[in-house]
Parts: sequence; C-alpha cells; structure tokens
Amino acid sequence: MEKNEPHPHPSWIEIDEGQFRKNIRAVRKRIGQVLFCLPVKANAYGHGLIEIGKIAIEEGVDYLGVSCLKEGIYLRKAKIQAPIVVFGAIHEDQIENLIRFNLEFSISSKFKAEIVKEVCGRLKEKCSVHLEVDTGMQRTGVRPETALSLLSYLRENPCFEIKGVYSHLATADCREDAFTEFQIDTFSYLREKVGAGEYLWHLANSGGVLHYPRSYFDMVRPGLLCYGYLPSGEKDSEIKPCFSLKSKISYFKAVASDKGVSYGHLYRTKEPTRLVTIPIGYGDGYLRAFSNKAPVLIREQRYVVSGAVCMDQFMVDIGKSTAYVGDEVTLIGKGGKEEISLWELAKLCQTIPYELLTLFNERLPRKYIKFSCAD
Ligand SMILES: *Cc1c(COP(=O)(O)O)cnc(C)c1O
Repeated sequence: MEKNEPHPHPSWIEIDEGQFRKNIRAVRKRIGQVLFCLPVKANAYGHGLIEIGKIAIEEGVDYLGVSCLKEGIYLRKAKIQAPIVVFGAIHEDQIENLIRFNLEFSISSKFKAEIVKEVCGRLKEKCSVHLEVDTGMQRTGVRPETALSLLSYLRENPCFEIKGVYSHLATADCREDAFTEFQIDTFSYLREKVGAGEYLWHLANSGGVLHYPRSYFDMVRPGLLCYGYLPSGEKDSEIKPCFSLKSKISYFKAVASDKGVSYGHLYRTKEPTRLVTIPIGYGDGYLRAFSNKAPVLIREQRYVVSGAVCMDQFMVDIGKSTAYVGDEVTLIGKGGKEEISLWELAKLCQTIPYELLTLFNERLPRKYIKFSCAD
C-alpha cells in the first residue's frame, strides 16, 4: 500500500509538492529576513495539515498558524516542534491543553486574560501569548486604545510570556487601499509607543505581503499566497497553484435524444448522445452549485457538468466524442494543455478560492507529487 493512498479511490486531490516549495521560496525572497508564519488552518487550506506543515518547516518557515486548539494538537502529535500560534479566540476549557501542547495563543481581552491567569495559577504553569489588537476588522482583539493597558496587565503577571502583538487586515487584497494604510498606521503607532524589539509584531496576510511592504514588521502570515493564489485573482510568474482535483470515469452510456439527466432532470439531451459518469459529488465537497455550470477536462477537451451534481457522482454529456471508463478527468488544474482554474470555478458560483479549497473533505485522498512539471 502506498503511503498517501491507504485505499484506492477513484477521485483524488493532487498536491504538487515541488510547486508548493517554490511558492514558499518565492514568498521568502519577497519578505527578506522577517519571520515567516504559514497559516495551515482548515487542513492547510485543503492541502493537508500534517504534510504541508512538515514541508513548510523543511523550507525554513518559522511559525505555523492554526485557527483552533485541535489543529495545533494534530501538528504536535505528528511530532512537529516548530512554534505554533492559535489565532482563534480561546475558550476556558481549552487553556490547559493549549499549555500542555506548547501552543502559543491569542489574548484578545482582559476578561480572557484573567481566566488564563487563573488556570495558569491552578496548573502552576506559564503560557505563551500574542496580544491581539483589532485595528479595523471588528472581529476579535482589543481596541487600540485599550491595548496598552492590557499589555501592562500581561507584563505584570509572570504567568504570561508575551511572544507577540498582532492584528489582522480587512481590505488588503487590492493595492493602494486607504483603509489598509490606516490599519498599518494604527499598528505602527502602537508599536512605536510600546517600543520595537521586545515582541514579534505581525500584521500582514497575503494581501499585505503582496501590496504593502510597510505591513511586514517582524513577521508575516500569508496563507492563500503560499498555496499559489493571489487574493485579487491576478496571476504571478513564480507563485502558482499546487492543488489539482482529479477523477476517473466510472460509467459510460449511450442515451437517446430528449432524455432528462440526473435529479430533477435539470439537463435534457438535445440529440442522441453519450454520457459519462464521474464518481465525485457534493459529499466530497464538489458543490451542487456546479450543476450545469462547471467545466471538466476529459482527454484535453472541455465539457460542462450535465444536470445536477449528486452526493457522490455527476454526469457529463460528451456528444459524439470518445471516452472510456477509467479515463482520467480533471476537475481543477491542468489536463494537458487545458486548465481549469480554481478562480474560474469560484467565480461561477460567486465564491472565493478559500471557500472551495476548504470544502473538499477527507473522503478524497491527497497524493503528494514530488516533482514539479512546471520546470
Ligand atoms: C487566515 C489568516 C491569515 C492568512 O490569510 P490569507 O488571506 O490566506 O493570507 C493571516 N492571519 C490570520 C490571523 C488568519 O486567521
């Protein structure tokens, strides 16, 4: 049995490991010597938490970022020893494990800080924290006006080992955005007041890394960019997607004219034709919204999903063309000279690459391909 594929399955995700490494190197080149935190939350944006975590560390990434305790524990149980920061707001019943698994976490209010202090006291342990400041996302984090007093509180209590101060950008996807400049200014001002040097100050997401060098400070946290997508939808010459979605035709049938296809008969054949069945559906994270819309590649030819996507499969009308059971189908990525981009699919159903990537679930095995064909 192959390591990456415990049980053969007719649909799978392919991760081009070589291209992922290139993306990390390209980002490193861009950011220079500041620390590099790779967000690996939500199963590393669908790319596989543990595998991506390990490759990233090999490539010299300094920190891994996750959203919750559980993701941090998975990384630790996989023997990843790099610093890990948990971004999401913490809950009281998680504090003990955050400490036990050596996970750094956010302090986003005095209220939370007091609870953490109490738990540390009970356990006779210290904890490593990042003070989260809200400079304009209105999500979590203290207001800039109260950041200094909360920082003093953390300093006064020796159970807190303060690692960093951070904030999150709300509108950095585009260049020259006034609100992003405002957030950077607010954060800079706070850093000047506290003094640089003692803590890691971090603010930049992918948009920040791409368009706002002024947002780099001591560490950056680009997620989507490292996985090969620009949040604006533009293309880059070095940074490219490394995620493909593939399947194999599971059935073929000749069908007469004017036959309804799939649930609700949302598609009807226009003439005698050929239908192939693809064994992947919304139960895998291939959206029902792709019904009658999404392109697929079979033998380097583009077709469109015919009728409703079912839970586990969907059909494609291939007209007079030839295709056989077992033929490879590309649903995302390159298939010969043709390519279906994630951005194209995202736009078809009014969403963003982030959402599509994180919907693909564990029913789909992930295969890691060592050598990049992009060379
Ligand atoms: C997800 C996340 C990021 C990465 O955002 P991208 O848009 O993928 O670059 C950075 N910082 C925090 C706190 C996050 O939650």
